[in-house]
Amino acid sequence: MSSTFDQLADAVLAGRAAAAEDALAVLRADDAELMSVVAAASRLRRAHFGNTVKVNYLVNLKSGLCPENCHYCSQALGSNAPILKYSWLSKDETLRQAGAGLQGGASRVCLVSSGRGPSHRDIDKVTEMVGALKSEHPDVEVCACLGLLSDGQAERLKDAGVDAYNHNINTAESHHDSIVQTHTYADRVDTVDKARTAGLSPCSGLIAGLGETDEQLVEALFALRELESDSIPVNFLMPFDGTPFENTWELSPARCVKILAMARFVCPDREIRIAGGREMHLRSLQPVALQVANSLFLGDYLTSEGQEAEADLAMIRDSGFVVLGSEEEIAQRPADPAIRRRGAGTDVLPNA
Ligand code: SF4
Repeated sequence: MSSTFDQLADAVLAGRAAAAEDALAVLRADDAELMSVVAAASRLRRAHFGNTVKVNYLVNLKSGLCPENCHYCSQALGSNAPILKYSWLSKDETLRQAGAGLQGGASRVCLVSSGRGPSHRDIDKVTEMVGALKSEHPDVEVCACLGLLSDGQAERLKDAGVDAYNHNINTAESHHDSIVQTHTYADRVDTVDKARTAGLSPCSGLIAGLGETDEQLVEALFALRELESDSIPVNFLMPFDGTPFENTWELSPARCVKILAMARFVCPDREIRIAGGREMHLRSLQPVALQVANSLFLGDYLTSEGQEAEADLAMIRDSGFVVLGSEEEIAQRPADPAIRRRGAGTDVLPNA
């Protein structure tokens, strides 16, 4: 007997767009139904992306010192989180950092800077970096994430070879003003529109766990569908100490999987990227989440460390997926058995 979620997958595969009540049903599925949700959503994932995983790599060009007050952000005005703070990386350092990610298997490099938005001189810097990066790595996809864009800046980035522009809407319009007051939801939408109009691939996503309701999570996803976001990073709040969201823990691993599955049902042919908070919130369900999402960040995030990049790649391989753009399937030899040298028969404390 097929599950309700299978029937929803059938309908979506046949071309019917998921409705808000479908999305809510996925989000509110009982934990006992989690695997039915995953099985159904994975049919959509495989129909559009097969067994590939897109690997993205973040380079934080300029960290901290931001005048905006996004409450979730460790780089924001008023944040006391003890993060790295530095001004613009040099072009050579950017190339070195990006090269490491490409070496690790990434096909897209995301060049990110903190701040409300770039000045024209900042755009000069970034266009120069992108030119150098593309001449060293002609196949790399470059996504820029520089904040709110003013007129003409998206076109300059496009002319310099930038492929995509990231600007997350982060949350529902109805929740936006309670998490940031220094810019508006409309400002954010305007930048996504500018990027799309200039011919850049729009990348816009959300952060779950900001005190939003289920309905607001659905509202945000439907807004992203409306905005025609090509790639949708789904972040799970990392509640840094020293930010207004410190000690805010609203997410369980199962809920995170349901959020990703909901995104897959609502935007079946879009890149659904497991973004910040993956390790912290999905924990041992990370490989399960890959059955519905088709993209992740390799290694570290902007201001926090991720798991080892090699562990990310091993997870992809172990789950039967291949890194997009890398033809070879590398059969990984498991580690040798570790001979027990602790517990019974030894003087060393047992592993318990
Ligand atoms: S999200 Fe961006 S704009 Fe907001 S505080 Fe952080 S760096 Fe600044």
